[in-house]
Amino acid sequence: MTLSHTSHRQPQDEAKIYDLIGVGLGPFNLSIAALAAEKPELSTLFLDKKPHFAWHPGLLLSDAKMQTSFLKDLVTAVNPTSRYTFLNYLVKSRKFYPFMASGQSTISRLEFSDYLSWAANQLPNVQFKADVTAIEQQDGVFTVTVGDQQYRAKHLVMGIGTQAAIPDCAKPFVGDDCFHASELALRDPQLEGKRVAIIGGGQTGADVFQHSFDGEFGSAKSLTWVSRRANIEALDEGCFTDQYFMPDYVNGFYQLEQPLKDKEVARQKLTSDGITNECLQGIYQRLYHDKYVLRKPNWWQIQPSRTLVSMVKRGGEYQLSLVHGLTGERTEISADVVVLCTGFKRTAPSCLNQLQSRIEWDSRGRPKLSPDFSVQWQGEADNRIYMVNAGMGSHGIAEPQLSLASWRAARILNHLAGHTLYDPIEHGNLVDWGLPTEAQHHKQTLGAAI
Ligand SMILES: Cc1cc2nc3c(=O)[nH]c(=O)nc-3n(C[C@H](O)[C@H](O)[C@H](O)COP(=O)(O)OP(=O)(O)OC[C@H]3O[C@@H](n4cnc5c(N)ncnc54)[C@H](O)[C@@H]3O)c2cc1C
Repeated sequence: MTLSHTSHRQPQDEAKIYDLIGVGLGPFNLSIAALAAEKPELSTLFLDKKPHFAWHPGLLLSDAKMQTSFLKDLVTAVNPTSRYTFLNYLVKSRKFYPFMASGQSTISRLEFSDYLSWAANQLPNVQFKADVTAIEQQDGVFTVTVGDQQYRAKHLVMGIGTQAAIPDCAKPFVGDDCFHASELALRDPQLEGKRVAIIGGGQTGADVFQHSFDGEFGSAKSLTWVSRRANIEALDEGCFTDQYFMPDYVNGFYQLEQPLKDKEVARQKLTSDGITNECLQGIYQRLYHDKYVLRKPNWWQIQPSRTLVSMVKRGGEYQLSLVHGLTGERTEISADVVVLCTGFKRTAPSCLNQLQSRIEWDSRGRPKLSPDFSVQWQGEADNRIYMVNAGMGSHGIAEPQLSLASWRAARILNHLAGHTLYDPIEHGNLVDWGLPTEAQHHKQTLGAAI
């Protein structure tokens, strides 16, 4: 079910000064919207350019699974009695008992997306079809432009997500038969009888390989899965790894020197960028069955340690040049369709152009974030710009993930209000990280912004 929420907005809203306007409504700002909606003392408005809520719609493949538990939803970790919990969604959708009997430990992305839409459809403080094109700040107020309308707020939270990262050599060819995986389901590609190259060895590459192997887009003539990584690598799902996705670790991590943070985030890459064991095993078993039981002639290739370095199109087919990461050998593959599972990047949104020069960015172009996710900027101190999913460099590997979304949302709302609206309960941890404690951290950061 997808509803537009434009009906919630009244004409007088343009004159109003909200406490907080959110730009973008992915899961992260949606978490803030859901927690804020249950605090009537806060006036908030969240805007998104999409016609209705959609969670990476191009990658909502039929059998793709979540990497995180359904309990890591919009609100549960800080407000389990909220009406916007995943469990309430199950009850209200009349599927609680069947869900429990299904015994799933991880649910499909389709179902989590349906939960997020269900929450968005009930929230009074969200508005879709609202592309924010400019933001100005003057006299203690932000003015947010959407078409010919303007909304005003004391504070902002930017939740505009990430953009598709496309290798330079592929950029000239982007179109119906060479595209980023984020558009896969939207393009509904016809792979029947085609030679398909899948570039990128993370979870998305695995999902695309698996669905193409299963013939979801027609029976491909051949599949070649290319990864720069040294192997097809698993998500590090260990229980001790999970400790990185807990508040006390994030608080301690924040206090480290930047070069150490960058080194740690790089070292922890597979804790969020690897492929789930369930997915890997499913793929491996398919390959085994295909090759050793069905004894089919070889129609697929798995090629790790190869980097795509150049591409040309000749007579309707692509020639892809790959360089081997260990031997340096250069090889070529031919393909009719190229699916780029080459990740996402963060870019400064154009709607911030007028504020850009007043925001502090580090040498790698990342915004400098305070512990409570507001950017350091040379604007008026009473006007804060919070950012979500922009602080992997400052807050660590959990930042682009759902695990701490509601905890971060609570931190932002508390900071904004200047008092504790939600107790961001910082549960115990089994590990002594030897990093600064939560209490030391908190003393130095709680500020009053409203
Ligand atoms: C396929 C996929 C699966 C994932 N699965 C998991 C998982 O299982 N577990 C996990 O922890 N993490 C997962 N992640 C990582 C992360 O949770 C998601 O990427 C998540 O969607 C990030 O949320 P977000 O709110 O930052 O941004 P997004 O979901 O990207 O949303 C940003 C929104 O901002 C809007 N927007 C942008 N610019 C403007 C503007 N100028 N005006 C108005 N609106 C604007 C966009 O329309 C969009 O709706 C996954 C990521 C992907 C790509």
